[in-house]
Amino acid sequence: MFENKLSYAQLKDQQDPLKHFRDQFLLPIDSAGNTLIYLCGNSLGLQAKKTSEYLQQELTDWATLGVEGHTDAKHPWLPYNEFLTNSMAKIVGAKPSEVVIMNSLTANLHFMMVSFYQPTSTKYKIVIESDAFPSDKYAVESQLKYYGFDPHDGLILWKPREGEKLCRFEDLEQIMNEHGNEIALLMIGNTNYYSGQAFPMKRITELGHQHGCLVGFDLAHGAGNIQTNLHENGPDFAVWCTYKYLNSGPGSLGGCFVHERHAKNPDLKRFTGWWGHNKKTRFNMRHDFDVLPGAEGWQLSNPSILSMAAIRASLDVFESAGFENLVRKSRQLTGYMEYLLEQLKNDRIKIITPKDPDQRGAQLSIQVTDADKTLHSRLIEAGVISDWREPNVIRVAPAPLYNSFEDVFIFVERLKEILNKE
Ligand SMILES: *Cc1c(COP(=O)(O)O)cnc(C)c1O
Repeated sequence: MFENKLSYAQLKDQQDPLKHFRDQFLLPIDSAGNTLIYLCGNSLGLQAKKTSEYLQQELTDWATLGVEGHTDAKHPWLPYNEFLTNSMAKIVGAKPSEVVIMNSLTANLHFMMVSFYQPTSTKYKIVIESDAFPSDKYAVESQLKYYGFDPHDGLILWKPREGEKLCRFEDLEQIMNEHGNEIALLMIGNTNYYSGQAFPMKRITELGHQHGCLVGFDLAHGAGNIQTNLHENGPDFAVWCTYKYLNSGPGSLGGCFVHERHAKNPDLKRFTGWWGHNKKTRFNMRHDFDVLPGAEGWQLSNPSILSMAAIRASLDVFESAGFENLVRKSRQLTGYMEYLLEQLKNDRIKIITPKDPDQRGAQLSIQVTDADKTLHSRLIEAGVISDWREPNVIRVAPAPLYNSFEDVFIFVERLKEILNKE
């Protein structure tokens, strides 16, 4: 299927219908000006060249129009979030009315839990995966405490079995069978940031709903990486950031999905602000709160236009590449990386990410024996940007928009040299 040869990697690049997108990105360089092998798009995506142009437009409109830019800018600021909705909805597989860009990820997670974590004295527990991203765990624990529950009792971890690295769906079923009547919310990170495991969203959602629980996903590592089909898979809510696979710049605004079934429910509790108010009367300033239908009704503040301009630049690139095409290439690239790593036959490293392409995205998590972090430092010295996650994993994620088969080949060659030297 694949071949372990530079010429093969170069041929794959030549045949790649998405190859020209690499030229649309700024690839990081070392101090001598050499292009680095960047495999960290799962942590911070790269800058599209057109981003500065989109930002410059807003700076110019601000400079020349001042406050009038709200209505007269080339892309007026008042409805700016609407310019992002359709492309974002396509990427996460949602209806436009189910998606909004606002705040940042952990903040959105809290706002969603205000609405979708509604504990009672007997049904109050929250399930998350055991290796959840720390911010998610802190957020969930603090919600439990906010309602007066002890996280030791209220937080249920969906764990891999003894000696295993991945969570099994059967074990979540077991948890639900035993504790379903005490559980209020399932909040799962998909794809898992550490192992790279993508969980079956539809099965998890249906399982949660069967037990009368609400279900949300943190798609920080899913959005722009895997097909999340949110509407069809049916979770109650989802949140994500736009600075990882979605390439919108450090600390950029987050995304939020609320399923259509909640679009007009007046009984949902929520924290509100003027940006969630009826657009027609928002500036009358004296009306009682009149909530917008759909996800937009959860907005609080007028959002950062500079950040949204960067998101728009990025979404335009996704739009022209086509997300399905990107996913297809991603599977090839990651499959090639896995193949080359397996060819190394070195027992100091082991891939813990699932082999099944339906259970992962771009990322491979490489577990290093004896938690030897020097391997990661040597890779940096050799011009490869990956990241290290405690206790013992190197994460590498070829991003289909700007990584090539040659990048993947060179990475594995350099890793091989480092492993052989030590
Ligand atoms: C990256 C990431 C975060 C970061 O949260 P911010 O609020 O954007 O700082 C949180 N959760 C997960 C799962 C992540 O991958």
